[in-house]
Amino acid sequence: MENLYQDIILDHNRRPRNYGLPGNPTNRARARNPLCGDELEIALSLEGERIGEICFQGQGCAISRASASLMTEATKGLSRSEAAALARKVVEGLDGPGEAAVFAGQGELEALSGVQQFPARVKCATLAWQALLSALGDGRPVSTEE
Ligand code: ZN
Repeated sequence: MENLYQDIILDHNRRPRNYGLPGNPTNRARARNPLCGDELEIALSLEGERIGEICFQGQGCAISRASASLMTEATKGLSRSEAAALARKVVEGLDGPGEAAVFAGQGELEALSGVQQFPARVKCATLAWQALLSALGDGRPVSTEE
């Protein structure tokens, strides 16, 4: 099972989905994790209340990139509130104690639960989701050190 998680992370790092920023995003946010050197920018286009396009760009470790790639796939087509609810669930699931169950049945997102075994990498995995929450909210830059 752990190898499967690792394979998903490595695959998304090597071939990130939705990489590159769209032309005219309605919402965007930057996020950085100075502890690891991860920097991401995400941009999305809301079509009414629904996320039409969502992309990311940036540099960082395999976990931060894979998590961003998984995030774009999981939230494309969701409504604003569904996407925000999912992002909160992932952030709380990874940062909270033993909440691996929140990932059950979430497809490839389950791979993120493997990060719980490496507390030092949790911020790498939550970065893209924090950026999404910011993009859907006030758009303020996110830093894990604040
Ligand atoms: Zn990282």
